[in-house]
Amino acid sequence: MDDRIIIKDLEVFANHGIYAEENKLGQKFLISAELYTDFSKVVEKDDISISTDYGALCRIISDTLKNNTFNLIETAAYKTAETLLDEFPFINGLKFELKKPWAPIGLSVNYTSVCIEKKWHNAYVALGSNLGDKKTYIEESIQKMNNLKGCRVEKVSDFIVTKPYGNVGQDDFLNGILLLKTYLDPFTLLNKLHEIENQADRKRTIRWGPRTLDLDIILYDNEIIDCEELTIPHYDMQNRKFVLEPLAQIAPYVRHPVFKKTASQLLREL
Ligand code: ATP
Ligand code: MG
Ligand code: MG
Repeated sequence: MDDRIIIKDLEVFANHGIYAEENKLGQKFLISAELYTDFSKVVEKDDISISTDYGALCRIISDTLKNNTFNLIETAAYKTAETLLDEFPFINGLKFELKKPWAPIGLSVNYTSVCIEKKWHNAYVALGSNLGDKKTYIEESIQKMNNLKGCRVEKVSDFIVTKPYGNVGQDDFLNGILLLKTYLDPFTLLNKLHEIENQADRKRTIRWGPRTLDLDIILYDNEIIDCEELTIPHYDMQNRKFVLEPLAQIAPYVRHPVFKKTASQLLREL
């Protein structure tokens, strides 16, 4: 994904800053962005309808910065970058720099700026339910994930009925996996998934006990995270048929970043 659309020093007069004068009088900002995309299809068809309109890109940057007032240019940069990812489906990620050449710091400086990078990531989320109206809990949670800002449900596996894990006597599970495109970081995503679990009346009583809804992050790109709050890849995925079977269905070649094995290999070896 080496193709880039580049915008250099787009000038926008807007009202960001912590001083009242900045909010009232406004000042000049300069925006540079590198937008990661893939030109191969666009070039093959030479067709504007599948390309990214850079005029529209510049207008959205300008509108977002003019129609909002933020204290910090960090916030302004984040919000504008997110708007670009939300609005332009062919942009896979971006570098975004917001310069403040007239920053009121009482010293002569060419400019100060913040620079951020944001990308769509691939997160595989396992879904499980074995209490109440399982199918509805699962279906509603898929809708909710798709409606989260910064998230798009891309692929959903079939759902399988499985016997409960551990030895707690309880009802059968309904299990499946989905691919979530997201620009949320893994910890923010985990919090959002917890909110969706809570909305489904999830009670955390016994480990592996009956639950209306369980949403676990199985993989997040090739990230390896190992702390109490969050372990990615999921610590036990290689031992769970109800995870590997649906995963191998929607992503047979996705690779476990520690074991270096694909989903179908892990399933075969189980
Ligand atoms: P298991 O993790 O064995 O599937 P569980 O899903 O029933 O068990 P929960 O009660 O849903 O466990 O979660 C317990 C804690 O696990 C959560 O509060 C969360 O912080 C933590 N956790 C660690 N790694 C992950 C992950 N990859 N996805 C979801 N939660 C995780
Ligand atoms: Mg779980
Ligand atoms: Mg869980």
